[in-house]
Amino acid sequence: MSRGVDMEEIDLSDQRGLIAMAEMYAHGGPPEPAAYANNAFEDTGSAHFRPGRNGSDDITKILHRPTAAASAPNTPRKMAPVSANGSSASSPPSTAVKFRRGVGHGERGRRISCSIPALLLFLGLMGALLFVGIVATFFLTKEHYVKGAGGADGPLIPGAIHANETTKDVATDTAHDDPDVEIDTTGPTPEELRLPKALEPVWYNLTLRINIPGYVPLPPEKNLTFSAALIMKLDVKESTDKIELNMLNLDLPTDTSQYVILVDGLRPNANVSLPPDVDESENTTATTHEIQKRQSGIVRSDSGIKVNKVTFNETLEKVIFELSDSLEQGKIYFFQFRYGGAISNKLAGLYVTSYHDAKGETHYAAVTQMEPTDARRMVPCFDEPEFKAIWRIRVHHPVGSKAISNAKEILEEEPDTKFPDYVYTTFDETPKMSSYLLALIVSDFEFVEGHTDRGTRFRIWSRKEALEETDFALKAGVTVLQFFEGFYGIDFPLQKQDMIALPDFAAGAMENWGAVTYRERALLYNDKLYTPLQKQYVATVVAHELAHQWFGNLVTMKWWNDLWLNEGFATLMEYSGVDAIDPQYKMNDYFLLDALDNALARDSMATSHPLSFPILKAEDVSEAFDQISYDKGASVMRMLRTVLGEANFKKGLNIYLTRHAYSNAEHTDLWKALTEAVPENLTSWTGEKLDVDDFAKKWTEQMGYPVVSVTTTNKGVALSQHRFKVDEHSLEGPKYRNAKYWYKWDVPIWYSVDGKEQPMTWLHTDNEFNLSNPDSLIFINSESNGFYRVKYDAKQTDKINAQLIKDHTAIGMRSRARYIDDVFTLAQAGHVPYEKVLEMSRYLVHEEDYVPLDLALSGFRIISEYFGDEPESVYYKKYINSLFEKRYNAIASEVFSDTEPKDADFFTTQTHKLITRTVCDLDIEDCARRNSEAYIQNFVYPCQNIKNAIASNCSTVPVSVRGMVYCEGVKFGNSKDWDRMLEMFERESVQVERDRIMFALACSRDTFTLKKLMNMAVDINNTVIRLQDKATVFSFVGNSHIGSELIFDFFIENWDKLYNGLKDQQTLLKRFVQASLSGKSWRRVKEIENFLEENKATTSNLDVFKQQLESVQTNARWMEKNYDNLIKWFKAASAKSAP
Ligand SMILES: [Zn+2]
Repeated sequence: MSRGVDMEEIDLSDQRGLIAMAEMYAHGGPPEPAAYANNAFEDTGSAHFRPGRNGSDDITKILHRPTAAASAPNTPRKMAPVSANGSSASSPPSTAVKFRRGVGHGERGRRISCSIPALLLFLGLMGALLFVGIVATFFLTKEHYVKGAGGADGPLIPGAIHANETTKDVATDTAHDDPDVEIDTTGPTPEELRLPKALEPVWYNLTLRINIPGYVPLPPEKNLTFSAALIMKLDVKESTDKIELNMLNLDLPTDTSQYVILVDGLRPNANVSLPPDVDESENTTATTHEIQKRQSGIVRSDSGIKVNKVTFNETLEKVIFELSDSLEQGKIYFFQFRYGGAISNKLAGLYVTSYHDAKGETHYAAVTQMEPTDARRMVPCFDEPEFKAIWRIRVHHPVGSKAISNAKEILEEEPDTKFPDYVYTTFDETPKMSSYLLALIVSDFEFVEGHTDRGTRFRIWSRKEALEETDFALKAGVTVLQFFEGFYGIDFPLQKQDMIALPDFAAGAMENWGAVTYRERALLYNDKLYTPLQKQYVATVVAHELAHQWFGNLVTMKWWNDLWLNEGFATLMEYSGVDAIDPQYKMNDYFLLDALDNALARDSMATSHPLSFPILKAEDVSEAFDQISYDKGASVMRMLRTVLGEANFKKGLNIYLTRHAYSNAEHTDLWKALTEAVPENLTSWTGEKLDVDDFAKKWTEQMGYPVVSVTTTNKGVALSQHRFKVDEHSLEGPKYRNAKYWYKWDVPIWYSVDGKEQPMTWLHTDNEFNLSNPDSLIFINSESNGFYRVKYDAKQTDKINAQLIKDHTAIGMRSRARYIDDVFTLAQAGHVPYEKVLEMSRYLVHEEDYVPLDLALSGFRIISEYFGDEPESVYYKKYINSLFEKRYNAIASEVFSDTEPKDADFFTTQTHKLITRTVCDLDIEDCARRNSEAYIQNFVYPCQNIKNAIASNCSTVPVSVRGMVYCEGVKFGNSKDWDRMLEMFERESVQVERDRIMFALACSRDTFTLKKLMNMAVDINNTVIRLQDKATVFSFVGNSHIGSELIFDFFIENWDKLYNGLKDQQTLLKRFVQASLSGKSWRRVKEIENFLEENKATTSNLDVFKQQLESVQTNARWMEKNYDNLIKWFKAASAKSAP
């Protein structure tokens, strides 16, 4: 790796000062400022660094939250059909693949993904091992379940293997023999990819000099580099003659004498030679050296062990030091050396970010993003979550910059006499933590400060010009941190919490312990430019990341296969956290149309996967950071929380977090702790005390969820369960065809009879309820706490529909919402006649609650997508207009003139926006006129005479409709309008505004312009559209009628280019695929199949292709079955509603 280059000399003697300090701390002693007086760096050589390995610096893998930027601005949720990736659009798309609703949408089409890995090749291989285990477990548990259930039901899915088939058949079908399952056997084994457990890091002592431009004069060869001195304390668990660390793209000395291994305690008759880091002039003899060390409290001496050979392995991302002798078991060693590296521009590891101020000057910052496996790009270390260690960080940074890290600074901006251009900032030691949580930010950002009641210092950092937009984050952050202290029953373990808004950050946010990083739009808030939903989004992201400070940071998953637990839990907690910030958001209601709906939609596809799933190839890893992990994870945890009751859930959580604090755990540890909190009277379906593990695993180890069928009996109703798929003809991949528990679940049944909530009961195989009054109205999953759908038979359906029409308020809001969402989806899947659902929908004219209304309009949106721009869609439009025209007319002038009361309730403003968008999507004249007026009067006129106008300053379009107005302006404007938008886009510094403009650029109806935009988006080197936004632009284009046709061909033509440019950036590539491959015809199915056949080598490992193909097939089937009937219904309905 380091090929004979001169290492920058960093004086490690200073490092011992740091060690002294660390150890004194450990013994309760004070820090010793003198220890830092020495200069840690000697500029005696020039640094040459290996260029970064191309492609491995994957920007998109660190999408900690697929950001809200990935969705249409100013768009009510699900106003737009959605693509399967979380990208969305708000103008009417016509592409059927996007019908899978809920999968990312609206301005909130984000999921708070915490980091998408790219380089976890080894994860894939670990997965293979796991998989073997799962297959084995399968046989054991299958039989158990079948017995417990009193016999299996036979195949629920076409092609599924029957439960009584032999072990051999299942094994054959499940794994290697199937052409669909390709396991790369040429790569390294899982064991090779993991680090051995012979050594454990106790602490790292890291001093870094950061060379970034814009502060002080820098020699060109130093620009965007860093140099470092590292000491790690190692505990030898097993004797070994190797030190193996993770490392990538760093420059280590080739001269093996540069590595020093010391040992704790003096060796008897020590005749040690002087360690090479010791300055001869100061230490003339070894004895003096040792005495000095003793005086400073350190008893440490040369171990006599030398590094003989240093080997780098890029595939394994490792460096291996071969030693002259073995490190002895039970002993403590100190391994120290200097190294250097480049500060990359790829948003992984230590990287540079930049922004322009109002004067147009560029400012630079060096920041980090480590999750999941990029700490190794900054420091050679044990880069696996289980190797927790203390980190002591000291930074040498240019005058004018400030440094932030996980722990509180203990010495700040300490001058350096040798290098007056540089200062030191020294941080306290961190608690034991995983390397992926390490953070370092060197910038000229400024901060606002507050404190929690317990005195935890809280700071929000941003570039200076955005500092006044940090108040909301500070208030929200302090509130929610205190809330979680109460909720977890554990004080926040750090002295301070920083939250930093980064102008250019691929991730949405990252939960680094004590130093959370955000995209600006996820942390800043400006009441003139943000919609209420965008404000809620900020609260949500803050709550999510702070929830991780305990769940994830204090207690960390042992290995990445439990990532779903980490993310599912934080997603669940973000709703509680936001309620603590502002109860008007009613997040437990909002959950229904956000996480729950997303999860139910995604998990009804055959191309879904279990929460806990075997990873068979590297590409599978990006799947772990999807709606299943976040939204289904949260939904299943929420169901579990309801089963246990909030108090027991909290109690179990406290047991878990206390028991595993500063350590690691697996999901079974959580189940165990929760089980300990189960009261005696809480029983499972067997009547025995509930075992959380037994309940949870059915929901986490097999994909999908049940639909509970409700059938009228003589005495009441009978319940049974089947797996629900939106398209029963779609077939899962072989590895999931035989679910571990045969697609049966222990379903907690909450229900109400005539509006009265009944005690929870279980549905294992079947169940029956007697009703004293046969006319009673029964609702299953009445509060929407369960992760399942409910199908009522015709008799019950008629009863419910009649009640909705007669007086919908007699049914609780959550019951209505659940019913509407289920019934639209069941109709889509062919389980319920559409006509019944549509007749029921007439009641919507009176529906005032946002949640059921939004879910109903989602159902309609799907139908509208099937109709596309066919001439017959006019009947559909007439019907929808008849439902909402009156209400639109009553609110439109308020909405378009921004005269809605500022203190209006969140759900009221959301409802107004939803109705406005719904009616505007019907192409009615009134809306077109209002859009056009607003565009001219509030955007064109106020901005046109300003030199270098910036939209966020000059535009006066009400923010709640601004995205739509810009879009319509471009759509009906000329090339001048588009060019002006592009200029505005380039100049805009406020991210929410820039997203609106970006959305508008994709609204052009001119194919030449759209192609120009797409070319900018696919060109990885084009800087007008930042890398982080490129796929979003593409999906915006794909979501208009014109764009969706264009984009398919464009994608096919450009696939090779896209693949070659992005093959190491799976997430980005995946989003391009999702935006492009859609449709609703068998012709399109054929086209995609042909394309996949011709491009097998580049497409076969990307599951996203299978998902998109499934969607198009499902759509094509839907069209055959439903299109004509529905047109007929809407035609008749619109005739009826016509004046
Ligand atoms: Zn997260």
